[in-house]
Amino acid sequence: MENCIFCKIIRGEIPAQKIYEDKDIIAFLDVRPVNIGHALVLPKAHYLSIYDTPDQLLAALMPVIKKLSIAIKSAVDADGINVEMNNGPAAGQLVFHTHIHIVPRFNDDGFKHWRGARGYSDQEMEQVQNKIKAALE
Ligand code: 5GP
Ligand code: ZN
Repeated sequence: MENCIFCKIIRGEIPAQKIYEDKDIIAFLDVRPVNIGHALVLPKAHYLSIYDTPDQLLAALMPVIKKLSIAIKSAVDADGINVEMNNGPAAGQLVFHTHIHIVPRFNDDGFKHWRGARGYSDQEMEQVQNKIKAALE
């Protein structure tokens, strides 16, 4: 993809602090980290988000994410790790090349975790359960 910023990094056209690479996957530091050590893990092939990324590629990403999470936690002495993927503008996706964030977290880093802010009204939970199950069929 000609103008994709991550494809440019993969092609070596713009620099990045790479921390992992194999034939299908690359990982590098996020240039605007939530915390120091924040990394992005992505397939080298250009897919937009989770929806169009092939299953086998998504499956290959997870062991790399695990390995990197352990390494990053150790390297920056983090207290925890968030693994996060934004899919679509409403979910905060800014770069439309499939990628997963590994964010080291510290006990006192001040970032708020999302909590269930809303409840379900009567039957709403069952209705959405049924809708999701129907959408899977
Ligand atoms: P998204 O919101 O799409 O899930 O996250 C995109 C991430 O890519 C952001 O956290 C942003 O800081 C990072 N990013 C954007 N452009 C570049 C870049 O040129 N180099 C690096 N290393 N990270 C980038
Ligand atoms: Zn791309």
